[in-house]
Amino acid sequence: MEYIKSETEAVILYGAGTQNLRMAFQPITSAGFHVAAIIDKDEKKRGKLFYGIRIALPEELQKYENKKKRYQIIITVRTEETVSEIKKELSELKHAEVFTFQEFIEAKKLNSKVKRFACIMFHLVDHCNMSCVRCSHFSPLAPKDGFYLKEEDFVKDCRRLAELTSGDIDEIQLSGGEPTLHPRAYSFPYIAKRYFPRTKIIMITNATKIKDMQEEFFQSCVDNDVELWISRYPINIDYHNIVDSLREKGIRVTFGNTGNSEDKPKEMWGLPMRLEGGMDKQHNFDCCLCMQYVLREGVLYPCANSAYIDLFNNYFKKGLPGPRENGVDIHQVKNMEELTQKISRAVPLCEFCDAQNRLPGIPWCVSKKEIGEWII
Ligand code: SF4
Ligand code: SF4
Repeated sequence: MEYIKSETEAVILYGAGTQNLRMAFQPITSAGFHVAAIIDKDEKKRGKLFYGIRIALPEELQKYENKKKRYQIIITVRTEETVSEIKKELSELKHAEVFTFQEFIEAKKLNSKVKRFACIMFHLVDHCNMSCVRCSHFSPLAPKDGFYLKEEDFVKDCRRLAELTSGDIDEIQLSGGEPTLHPRAYSFPYIAKRYFPRTKIIMITNATKIKDMQEEFFQSCVDNDVELWISRYPINIDYHNIVDSLREKGIRVTFGNTGNSEDKPKEMWGLPMRLEGGMDKQHNFDCCLCMQYVLREGVLYPCANSAYIDLFNNYFKKGLPGPRENGVDIHQVKNMEELTQKISRAVPLCEFCDAQNRLPGIPWCVSKKEIGEWII
């Protein structure tokens, strides 16, 4: 099969919903594919940029058809009904090979082919001032005041990561838990930017504490071009007012999740674990949609589940594997090749993580901290 010239690994993403697009973009680009275009039917998104890639209307696909060479389209939308509508529309294209993200990840074995890191996440704290049902980072189960990332540890890890990657990381995410609960949250973007001058720095926040932050926090966001990603929840908070005040200060803001409107209430999704294990860990790893590289205390993990499983184990007194045995110590590997090879393998926790049966979304509510929120 012949692909478009000089874009052997080029793909086109279809669907520009923020959350789905983000979840697909990271493993696709980490596996070395180049996203040549993003397509969405919504006129309002036309011309907007996502990682420098312009969002275009479906008519743009004609450009690829005219080349009369095979090309690949990945539908990032998850709702089954919408996926079948899109597949029907795209069936008229003669040269396109069309996948859902799930189909693509499995067909290309993306998770086992890490070549670089599109994004690395750090927790500034593990706990949160909210407590959401099924929180995928187990934050409701984290001890309050249990962990605050130390600047010297962050420096050490950023320095080593920069050595290994030569600074080639698209995005560093400062997250949690709720990162603004760290009393020195403002200092981490300066450190990240020092070691990764070309990398976009994101802070993921529920925005509930933004109004209480000191000037040094806002100054750090401006100085380091930090983009705040606000996750919206159905709580009593005036998001628009917060966004306006941040933008007035010159801070970039994006709503990092969809939902939380009358026609689209906020839902929480989950990847269930099975305490008895015994599943095919390689298969679970191969079809896992939750890849999110997390660096915690010098160890790189393929996902939040594997990095923070101790929060679950400690709270419920269980013994699921990890976290250390799920990760790769970045201070022990010789080079980037060894790191990418080791992080491309299924981890012990994959045997307990039912990646093939994601739980259906449930309306957002406060976590009761019951084990059933995370297991089946
Ligand atoms: S706001 Fe985010 S980190 Fe905090 S409990 Fe909710 S989902 Fe978890
Ligand atoms: S532990 Fe679970 S979430 Fe993490 S890579 Fe394995 S299957 Fe995916």
